[in-house]
Formats: sequence, structure tokens, C-alpha cells
Amino acid sequence: MSKIKVVKFGGSSLADAAQFQKVARIILAEPERRYVVPSAPGKRFKEDRKVTDMLYACYDAVQGGADFDASFAPVRERFDSIVRDLNLSVDLEDSYAQIRVMFSKPDERDFAASRGEYLNGLLLAAYLGFPFVDAAGIIFFDKFGKLDEARTYASLKEMAARFPKAVIPGFYGTIRDADGRKHIKTFSRGGSDITGSIVARGVSADLYENWTDVSGFFVADPRLVTNPRVIDTISFNELRELSYMGATVLHEDSVFPVRAVGIPINIRNTNEPDAPGTRIVRAEDAPIHSGRVTGVAGKRGFCVITMEKDMMNSEVGFTRRVLSVLERHGISYEHLPTGIDTLGIVLHEDILKGREELLLQEIQEAGQPDHIEVVHNIALIAVVGRGMVRSKGIAARLLSAIAGADINIRMIDQGSSEMNIIIGVDQNDFERAVRAVYVEFFVY
Ligand code: ASP
Repeated sequence: MSKIKVVKFGGSSLADAAQFQKVARIILAEPERRYVVPSAPGKRFKEDRKVTDMLYACYDAVQGGADFDASFAPVRERFDSIVRDLNLSVDLEDSYAQIRVMFSKPDERDFAASRGEYLNGLLLAAYLGFPFVDAAGIIFFDKFGKLDEARTYASLKEMAARFPKAVIPGFYGTIRDADGRKHIKTFSRGGSDITGSIVARGVSADLYENWTDVSGFFVADPRLVTNPRVIDTISFNELRELSYMGATVLHEDSVFPVRAVGIPINIRNTNEPDAPGTRIVRAEDAPIHSGRVTGVAGKRGFCVITMEKDMMNSEVGFTRRVLSVLERHGISYEHLPTGIDTLGIVLHEDILKGREELLLQEIQEAGQPDHIEVVHNIALIAVVGRGMVRSKGIAARLLSAIAGADINIRMIDQGSSEMNIIIGVDQNDFERAVRAVYVEFFVY
């Protein structure tokens, strides 16, 4: 059997006719590129608007009483201009008529948002001469809003048997409401990445290519350091750590479907198709360079509840009692750095808003610590690398690089997999700290 590649193209890759031409060249260059998952048209230039944003705004305006034709005109023009410029013989009038009807209904915001991918999928299918398969008929959510895996993967398998090639719009699927009526539901923003991953798994692809406007994952955020290099190979676990900590090339949930079955992802650049990009593979398939760090990423907006209590180490149940307070409030924590008589709980800053005093009081009652306080305005920086496992000296280099930049470390947490070290610094020191780490590990 010939190989199967699922290729997903992001919004900037399909923002206008010129981008469509690049995308078609890429797809048609390899017959294995059989299943294509498009996003909605993205920005053509910096101040431009993404079609998905325009659709949300348009739906809200129409719901608020605005005239449909006037509100929808800019969206319509985005698609009509692609049809015109590519000379396509596609008629979108029926789709526009359906959109008009649905925009007048309440509770159809997800439907509205999904039309960017839907219409772009129709255009791309026509341009490529591929069949169009509506995601509404193959991606299903259960009543809790989670992907119905069994049904979705069975449908994708059937689809693959019927269609050797297809265009499947990203970002949405079908859900049934309590009365059994079908509705469109979208994933969270950027969710076409997730669709691509689900399709790759459903059709048993050999590779999931994710085409975007950067040549892969950078070792550090290019907004913070100049010209960082691209990571050539990264394991799923490393990627999860880095994207969780703010590296945003790929939707963080999109690794799960393919990771489960070991299908690699290749991040590629539509505007630089010869660049090999970043390959994301299973840990066992990733070459290990001992002592090497793969990447650094970080985020602002954290705080730490710190507690001290004499003999905490021998008090059975202390941590459970404290954490049960968070559980009661439905709060999940990020990290839990501990010392012998100290415990820190790292949380997103906004979680505490409006209930800091109450939480501290309840924790005080539950655990009776000798001292409790909240340290605000913390940024977390994660240094990630499979080459760090059982290799000496990385933490020492990290800490002395931070000290050398005259930055105080407020918290340190080494993941139990030894694949990451997370440090907390004052938010004001965030950028300098990332640069110091970058210089230490990546500038030779
Ligand atoms: N168009 C959707 C968004 O802007 C989904 C995607 O592009 O992945 O979030």
C-alpha cells in the first residue's frame, strides 16, 4: 500500500489566492499527500483580520440586531476574491444562504465560526480536484463535548476506504443536544491542528504534516532572542512541556491522537517548502544527545502559595489536607515544589482573583502551617530536553547562568522524568532570564 500523509494547512497558508497556489504545489508534489485539512483564511498582512474572528464578530452583530448582508460582506469578499483570483467554477451562493439562516438563530456561534474552514475547504477541494468531505459527517463529539473516538475513527476509516484523497475542513465536528438534534461544535481556537491529528490517526497515516508560516519549533521564542535555530527532532513529551509553557506553533491538544499510535508530526513552512522543519516523534525514536537541552520556553502570570511548618516532612496527610481545599474550589495547580518543612503550590495568578483571602484561610485551617504567604507576579521558565536525563551539570549551568544575569530564582522544580527543570523568577526578570538560558545552552 502506498504511504499516506495527512497535510494540514494553517490560516496564513491559505489566506489568499497566492497562498492557495503555494499550497497546491506542495500537495501535488507528492502523491502521498492524500488527505488535506485546511484552516480558515488567516491574516494576509499584519493588520488584517482572520476570517474566524470576522465570523464570530459577524454572528454576534447579527444576533444583536445588525443587518446580515452588511455584516457578512467582508467575509464574503474574502472567499469571493479567492474564487475570482483562482478562476474557480465554484458557486458558494447556497452556502451563503444557509449561513444567513443559521446566523439568525441563537446558540449557533460554533456553526458560525466553523464556516471559515467549511468554505475554505470547498474552495481548496475545487482547486485541487479532490473530493470535499464535510467534517460534520466524520468528526463526532459525545454529550460531554469530548471527542467520540470510537465513532470518529470508525467514520474516518470508512471515509478512507471510499476516498483515496479528500479535503476535510478543520476545527469542527458534530454534537447532539439533549433533544437529539445535531449541531456544529468547534474545538478550541487553533483547533484545526487537532482535526489534522485525528484524521491522521483515523486514516492510519504514516506522517502528519502540519504546514504553517514558520520553519518549525525554535529552541527559544524568536520574540525574545534573535534568530534562534529550529529544533530538528523533538519527542512528543518534550513538545508537550514546551507548548504547555508557551511555545505556540501547534495546538497543545493536537499531539494526543497521533502520539497514542506513534504517527510522527512534521512541522513545515508553506513559504519555505524546502526547509525540513521540525519532526515530532516518539521518545524511543528520537536520537539522544546526552547533555543537550532541546528548548526553553516560559510564561508569565503565575503565583506561589508558600507554606512552612516545622516537621512537615513527618506529618502524615499534610499535603492531602491542603490540596483538598483546592479540590473543593475546583482549582488545579501547576507545580508543587516541596522542601523538608516547606510546600509551594504554583497556580495561575487569575485563579486567586477574588478568593485569595478565603483560600488562605481554608488552607490555614486544613493544614495549620506556621507560616503561609502568596508570592505574586512569577514567571515560569522551563528548560526541556531528553538529553538531560541522567546527565550531570545541566542544573548547575542553568542556575549559574541565571545568577550570572543577577536574577534571583524564586522556585525550582525538576520534573520527575528528569526531562525538564522549571524555575520561577520575578516577572520583571522574565525576558532577561530566558535570554540568559538561551545564551548558556544555545549560543556556542
Ligand atoms: N480557524 C480557527 C481559529 O482561528 C481554527 C484554526 O485555524 O486552527 O482558531
